[in-house]
Amino acid sequence: MAGKRGLIMGVANNRSIAWGIAKACKAHGADLALTYQGEALKKRVEPLAAELDAVIAGHCDVTDGATIDAVFETLRQKWGRLDFLVHAIAFSDKDQLDGRYLETSEDNFTKTMLISCYSFTAVAQRAEKLMSQGGSLLTLTYYGAEKWMPHYNVMGVAKAALEASVRYLAADLGEQGIRVNAISAGPIKTLAASGIGDFRYILKWNEYNAPLRRTVTIDEVGESAAYLLSDMSRGVTGEMHHVDAGYHIVGMKNPTAPDI
Ligand code: NAD
Repeated sequence: MAGKRGLIMGVANNRSIAWGIAKACKAHGADLALTYQGEALKKRVEPLAAELDAVIAGHCDVTDGATIDAVFETLRQKWGRLDFLVHAIAFSDKDQLDGRYLETSEDNFTKTMLISCYSFTAVAQRAEKLMSQGGSLLTLTYYGAEKWMPHYNVMGVAKAALEASVRYLAADLGEQGIRVNAISAGPIKTLAASGIGDFRYILKWNEYNAPLRRTVTIDEVGESAAYLLSDMSRGVTGEMHHVDAGYHIVGMKNPTAPDI
């Protein structure tokens, strides 16, 4: 990835999936820029950016289009072009990531869709203008988009829409040599995941029932992301690539798994 310049959105701390991706891209030679959401996270992201010699592209709250514009203007001035972009952003009210999907409020449904789904399209619109030589866009999804999962609720609906937007964006941007893919990551203990009800149970369930009999790490997601962001995957677009220790192929509980 030497000579490639990429924007990574969604680093909150050193447990973030976006951080695993940033480390892997850097290890493969890419130049990076990171955004942060608000002053509290700025303090965490700044030292991480320094570790990777990454540009700080500024504060970005995807509910405020002006902050997205500002980030891309900074990159235009600094780099003039962009080769890849990682969108590792999602949010929903914690109290609705528990219990029944049926109880989702209109307000939280709209907010969840805006932050966790539409924002990928919003950043793709800006990225297109900096990718005149082609590029690679990547977002993060979860198996709860494909199948019912306990407590995932409105986030599952948003991820299903996000996966559909990956396909539509891939078709819209393909002629310009811009590829659009998603990684469907297995459960990993991060700040965002801590908002999901019974998350420890979900982790254990995956560990006992995934073909590899374990969960995955942010570094494993990072290495797979580096493939999708590099020319190694130049023939791949519109893909949902599962990095989940194989859990998505499982149709039934492993009969030898211990009780949780
Ligand atoms: P994380 O908490 O480390 O990252 C989530 C990021 O979203 C944070 O950096 C946060 O600042 C950002 N964000 C939230 N609202 C925002 C807004 N309005 N504007 C800008 N940024 C905003 O958690 P993570 O698990 O690394 O999440 C990254 C992505 O991976 C998310 O899309 C998540 O759904 C997805 N994912 C996570 C798992 C898992 O088990 N952790 C599994 C599959 C997919």
